[in-house]
Amino acid sequence: MAARQSQRLLRPLLVLTSATALAGGVIYISYRPRHLPGSDPVGDSSLAYSPDGHARPPRFPDVKSRDEQIADLKRSAGVRSDARKDQGWRAIGSSVSRLLGRGGLDDAAQARDDAQEEPYDLLIIGGGATGSGVALDAVTRGLKVAMVERDDFSSGTSSKSTKLVHGGVRYLEKAVRDLDYNQYKLVKEALRERKYFLDTAPHLSMWLPIMLPIYQWLKAPYYWIGVKCYDLLAGAENIESSYFLTRSKALDAFPMLKRKGLVGALVYYDGAHNDSRMNVSLAMTAALYGATVVNHLEVTSLERDVSGKLCGATVKDLVAEKNGRRPQEFKIKAKA
Ligand SMILES: Cc1cc2nc3c(=O)[nH]c(=O)nc-3n(C[C@H](O)[C@H](O)[C@H](O)COP(=O)(O)OP(=O)(O)OC[C@H]3O[C@@H](n4cnc5c(N)ncnc54)[C@H](O)[C@@H]3O)c2cc1C
Repeated sequence: MAARQSQRLLRPLLVLTSATALAGGVIYISYRPRHLPGSDPVGDSSLAYSPDGHARPPRFPDVKSRDEQIADLKRSAGVRSDARKDQGWRAIGSSVSRLLGRGGLDDAAQARDDAQEEPYDLLIIGGGATGSGVALDAVTRGLKVAMVERDDFSSGTSSKSTKLVHGGVRYLEKAVRDLDYNQYKLVKEALRERKYFLDTAPHLSMWLPIMLPIYQWLKAPYYWIGVKCYDLLAGAENIESSYFLTRSKALDAFPMLKRKGLVGALVYYDGAHNDSRMNVSLAMTAALYGATVVNHLEVTSLERDVSGKLCGATVKDLVAEKNGRRPQEFKIKAKA
């Protein structure tokens, strides 16, 4: 009798607890803290002021000037120049510090300076997308890297591309049509790289919808299967799936499309980026990581050692020439 009574009491209690837990869960899921873009607190943007009331400019990382970078290049071939004369003072400071028994930091600076006298592990000729990418990759792997560009960074092909960061829909077509496994691997790798690009430089890259107008019904399944395979291959690396647009929707989106014979359109997504800014960012990031990166410096000849192995290059400073001064030529030593 008593057990039945307590059961009668327990049941509504259990129902009430479950209902409360469920309602709590629903409320939590609906109003849980989420990270909304732009919701971060703004950083302290207030300027620092010196005691006499002057605003202190912000501090930037210790990046070497062009002259200092050129001095580093020369030092790889054993030439010391004026731009590094402060290093002489640094050496004196280091000796004094050692005498005073606090050599740690100065010794490290001295060791870095001595390392500048070593030839570069890698000298990259050309500061386009390839050179800048290789420079960043190599310097972040711990190699001593120099990159010289005869014009400005990205002044060549790298600023004149279609600006796509693509997996290559047409390479996929080739892979299927010719049963070419290498083309398939290329597309797969490019799709992975596309995601890295979009993730690491969201300020310079974006997703781009691309519309393929279709003028024959027969071609619609061919294109549809093609873009769906492209989506499938991208897998988790994809952000938007491709879709079909009716004729009227396609004309709404692109009123200038040729109307005659248009049956619809397919839309698929690829990446796009600002090619020249991306190129310059790569070169600057390589410099921040310690690569010696100089533009308007042209390689005029390559150097070989006695065994015939490439061991450096002769370069010409074109800034001096552009300013009507005699261009200086000097050598850079490198292992590769
Ligand atoms: C029309 C077109 C569209 C393209 N569209 C795309 C696209 O959408 N997506 C994509 O991923 N790729 C695209 N590409 C390919 C891509 O643009 C190139 O693969 C890439 O830009 C090549 O970069 P690079 O650094 O090898 O060459 P470049 O950018 O040409 O760089 C070579 C650099 O070397 C310098 N140089 C040459 N000689 C010397 C010397 N003696 N001393 C010092 N410096 C020197 C030059 O000044 C130049 O800056 C496209 C290419 C073309 C032509």
